Amino acid sequence: MRSITARLQLALLFELACGLCRLASAAQESNQSRHVVLVVWDGMRPDFVSQENTPTLWKLSRDGVTFHNHHAVYPSATMVNGTALVTGMYPGRSDIIANHDYRPAIDNKRSLDVESPGAVKKGDELSGGKYIAYPTIAELVQKAGGRTAIASAKTVGLLLDRHAGIGRAKDCVTLFAGKSAPGDTITSIIAALGPFPVAHLEQDPWTTKALTNVLWKDGVPAFSILWLGEPDLTQHDCAPGAPSALAAIKSSDENLAAILSALDRQGARESTDLFVVSDHGFSTIRRSIDLRKILNDAGFSAKIEFHDEPKPGDIMLAGNGGSVLFYVIGHDAAVTRRLVEFLQQSDFAGVIFTKNPAQGTFGLAEARIDSEHAPDVVMAFHWNDSKNQFDVPGMIDADWQRGAGKGTHATLSRFDMHNILIAAGPGFRRGQVDDPPTGNVDLAPTILRILGIKPPQPLDGRILSEAMVNGDSANGGLKPETKTIEAKKDFAAGTWRQSLQISRVGPTIYLDEGNGAFAPR
Ligand SMILES: [Zn+2]
Ligand SMILES: [Zn+2]
Repeated sequence: MRSITARLQLALLFELACGLCRLASAAQESNQSRHVVLVVWDGMRPDFVSQENTPTLWKLSRDGVTFHNHHAVYPSATMVNGTALVTGMYPGRSDIIANHDYRPAIDNKRSLDVESPGAVKKGDELSGGKYIAYPTIAELVQKAGGRTAIASAKTVGLLLDRHAGIGRAKDCVTLFAGKSAPGDTITSIIAALGPFPVAHLEQDPWTTKALTNVLWKDGVPAFSILWLGEPDLTQHDCAPGAPSALAAIKSSDENLAAILSALDRQGARESTDLFVVSDHGFSTIRRSIDLRKILNDAGFSAKIEFHDEPKPGDIMLAGNGGSVLFYVIGHDAAVTRRLVEFLQQSDFAGVIFTKNPAQGTFGLAEARIDSEHAPDVVMAFHWNDSKNQFDVPGMIDADWQRGAGKGTHATLSRFDMHNILIAAGPGFRRGQVDDPPTGNVDLAPTILRILGIKPPQPLDGRILSEAMVNGDSANGGLKPETKTIEAKKDFAAGTWRQSLQISRVGPTIYLDEGNGAFAPR
């Protein structure tokens, strides 16, 4: 009797296990029929999302989730945030910590554009394929047998998937500013759409059509990115809130509408989760600071290009708009100390980070920019919340590349560090506003979860499960925390103070804002 019961129990268990297997494989299959589309509006500020400015995005937010407290990673610049979006890793770990940095092994005479094809190729050669130290979403989707399509109106596209067309990614394509990988794909796109336009407002609709009409011709792949250059490019030229900047925002909304129509035509709307995100916020330039001149006038040897071999104690400056990276040749400790003290007594410094501990600064790790190739000193410019000529708050000092009254970003201003995220589709709740802190590092873990792909190592970002239909309650019990760290240094003439506000959900941190000032006695 007992043995019959035991056998029955065993049979029942077996039946149950098979049922679970069938369920699991059905879930796997359903994930393979799921699509994710990531649409990036470069430089879009949250306070410009409205029924009037962005009717399509507004309606999408009503059908999905608006993430109210979303964060860029620092520096709030395009290449840094593009990499964080697709790896789920902080800049210090992915190794892309700036748009422009100095890597003597690649070029010892000048700073690099980190996304230039030459730098990417050389960087991968020198690091055994780890120029970006962790795999991107596209690579992981390809490894799982899925197809990807990356269409970027800006050069950042190459960082989002630099392996398209190779090996198991042979059916996958990356477009970046009118170029392609594999290289010959662009020929068929130009045949269909004409050449990549020169005027930047026309580049976005061209890139959108390349995605919807050419790359999606045989169906919507598992994972797609559309990276729009607006409103970033126009806001740089004229500042946030300018009539032409509002027109650029409207054009991004129209390109989003074109994506939604294409998904409808393909019958893929119900199986697609759509993310609309910006890489960073935006500010208006209060003053343009010519650091090279200021430092040389103060007795430093500061360069933005070396004509001869670099000498110990020379300082290479890599300007990134709202932040500057300082590379002291030979890591000369005395020069580095004098540089930091000079910046601390200036009227333009905001927050200073140093590779080696220095009084009145934070370590690079506090901003998660402690990469192998990190500079000796990083400075975010000072900012305030006063309004620009179009009544839009957020003024910053910035480097020598653009004049006062124009727009830029990359500081630790709350207006640069806060950006948009709206998600809608079968995986997300409807009509919800998500209040806990979220950030660009959270996109990759969330997207991989939707597609049923397990990353090969833990990611820095978290799965945004509190906003998802089948989200586990893992994040439910995690209470967001916020703290402010401070540093100061006394001088004969006054005191330097800087602070950084950091939010945390579980192990994931988000930089809210940071600033500093020298108070004369
Ligand atoms: Zn950008
Ligand atoms: Zn920009």
